[in-house]
Amino acid sequence: MSGYDEVVPAGEPWMGVVRHGQSLRIVDLEGNQAVDTLFYNAADTAEHYSAQNTIQAQGRIYLTTGTTLLSNRGNPLLRIEEDTCGRHDTLGGACSAESNTVRYALGKRSMHSCRDSFLLALARHSGKDGGLTKRDLPSNINFFMNVPVTPAGELRFADGISAAGRHVQLRALVDTLVLISNCPQLNNPCNAYNPTPIRVMTWDNA
Ligand SMILES: [Zn+2]
Repeated sequence: MSGYDEVVPAGEPWMGVVRHGQSLRIVDLEGNQAVDTLFYNAADTAEHYSAQNTIQAQGRIYLTTGTTLLSNRGNPLLRIEEDTCGRHDTLGGACSAESNTVRYALGKRSMHSCRDSFLLALARHSGKDGGLTKRDLPSNINFFMNVPVTPAGELRFADGISAAGRHVQLRALVDTLVLISNCPQLNNPCNAYNPTPIRVMTWDNA
C-alpha cells in the first residue's frame, strides 16, 4: 500500500508504517485534540523516538516546522515539514490510569487512557512488529497539545492553541512505524474536555 487516508475516532489507537520519503499528515479535524504519538525504526523497533535527544539537539522544548525527531540512538527518524498549529508538546507524556489517579481523583482510575490505547495497539500488532510491549513505550509526543513551561520551570496543561483543520506534516527519513493514541482524556483543558476525531494521511512524494 502506498498510502493511508483514515479518520481515527476519538479515543482510538492507530498504527501504520510510513516509508522512507513518504509524508505523514495528522489533521486536528475539530480542534484542540491531543494526539499522543510514538515512532519506531520499522527495521529495528528497539530504535524509537527520543524526546531527550530531540530537545537537546534543537535546543528548545516545543516541536514545530524544522524539528528533526531523533531516536534513542541519535539518528533522524522524521522531520516536521509543515505545521499550521505551531506548537507540539513532548514533555507531558501519555495519560494513564496512574496519572488519572494522581492528577484528578481515585475515581478516574478506570477511565480510558492513552497508555491503555498504546498497549492495545501493540497487542493487536504483536505478530507483525516483533512483539512490542510496555517496555517499548518511551516518552511520547503530544501533537496539538499545549503544555507551556512557565519562567519558574513549571509545566502547565493549558487550553489548546490548535483549531479545526490545523495539521502537522512529517517526512519520514527512514521506514518508520507510527503508533498513535488519539487521546480519550476527559479531565484536562488541552482538548476542552471533549476528545474528537483526527485524520491520518500518508503519501509518496515525487
Ligand atoms: Zn491521553
